[in-house]
Amino acid sequence: MADEVKTLYEKLHNSVAAAYSPEEVKKVERAYNLAEKAHNGQKRLSGEPYIIHPISVAQILIDMGMDCDSICAALLHDVVEDTKVTYDEVKEQFGESVANLVDGVTKLGLVSLSTKEERQAENLRKMLIAMNRDIRVIIIKLADRVHNMRTLEFMREQKRRDKALETLEIYAPIAHRLGIRGFKEELEDLAIRYLDPVAYNEIKKSLELAGKSRNKYLQEIKDKIYQRVIKTVPDAHIEGRIKSVHGIYRKMYMQNKSLDEIYDIYAVRLIVDTVYDCYNCLGIIHDMYTPIPGRFKDYIS
Ligand code: MN
Repeated sequence: MADEVKTLYEKLHNSVAAAYSPEEVKKVERAYNLAEKAHNGQKRLSGEPYIIHPISVAQILIDMGMDCDSICAALLHDVVEDTKVTYDEVKEQFGESVANLVDGVTKLGLVSLSTKEERQAENLRKMLIAMNRDIRVIIIKLADRVHNMRTLEFMREQKRRDKALETLEIYAPIAHRLGIRGFKEELEDLAIRYLDPVAYNEIKKSLELAGKSRNKYLQEIKDKIYQRVIKTVPDAHIEGRIKSVHGIYRKMYMQNKSLDEIYDIYAVRLIVDTVYDCYNCLGIIHDMYTPIPGRFKDYIS
């Protein structure tokens, strides 16, 4: 167990050293030392040392390119609520910015949020008040939820379902509103995994059957389109994605479709500067591939 903590912290430390100034690296080290000491002896439901959770949350945030204070606050995000460390101590040792982030995340956990769809705007408003107008508080809270969902298997059945439902109805929509697609999709996929395990496994399996070749297939299409498009539109930018498990699930169960009837498991997106270039690209794509009658939609006009 102690080895795992060491491995995770070394990885975090390397990422931090690669991204921040020496003073900032020192600050993160201090935050880790305080968190490690404060949580000492506490365990997660998995039986692992508690410190694994804050390290993992911090790692998620550094991979997103968040700033040094967010990483420190992630390491300390549970100390005020779950240990003897106080807000004033955090403020004294790490400054007001880190202390307020920790305080915001703690308070955010106490805000009661509605799961009704029409209340989502209200949820966001409540969260905005709780976070003291600092968006980093919500981002840390979302990373906290991502890691808790990744380790949900250790909770008992009823609690798992409650958490998964709350994630699907509250946290994923907030991630969506903030435009953080990585969080949104991971939260939704993890929620479905616990809310409808049979469907989740079925979709996951059919997506994985040719997992590697699927990525290769998408890359080949992207390359092919890109090579052709840049001849006419040199500054075009291309993106591609494979639909998430939850995205497929929604289509299958809400529109009553089979996997074969879902046409957008793969999607390629071309981003260009002008409407003129948009139609240029569309012309090229229609020359390369035949549109399916009744399936083509002109979102440009
Ligand atoms: Mn936490």
